[in-house]
Amino acid sequence: MASPLANTMDKLRDILVQRGSIQKNTIPELLKVNQEDLDQILTKLEEEGVLERKRELDKGHQVLKVIYKGETTTIPFVLKDSGKKWTFLEESPCFFCRNFDKCGADPLVNFLKCTKLNSWLQGK
Ligand code: SF4
Repeated sequence: MASPLANTMDKLRDILVQRGSIQKNTIPELLKVNQEDLDQILTKLEEEGVLERKRELDKGHQVLKVIYKGETTTIPFVLKDSGKKWTFLEESPCFFCRNFDKCGADPLVNFLKCTKLNSWLQGK
């Protein structure tokens, strides 16, 4: 069974995949997490290259934003060396997405609002 901290980390990943970014001070209430645990989660995800923290101006006030940078995925060996054309599958963010199974069924994970999928569809 996953720890409460791991569950919170998964929920934060899901939110970042969907929204692209979130103001840090809104996260504790949204995910029912204390500041110390949140900082621990953010540091871990930052080290993994999943997100970055950045100060930005919002209506004249400095806010700390948590910005999604994407997940590092690797193409399975069998596909790389199959000799077949897998270009579409190789490039689709959904193909390797850890949220694929719940995408569309979970209010936080929805392909209609997915930043990762929309960026890919727009060729970014
Ligand atoms: S649309 Fe694709 S990339 Fe986005 S959450 Fe769903 S499965 Fe993942």
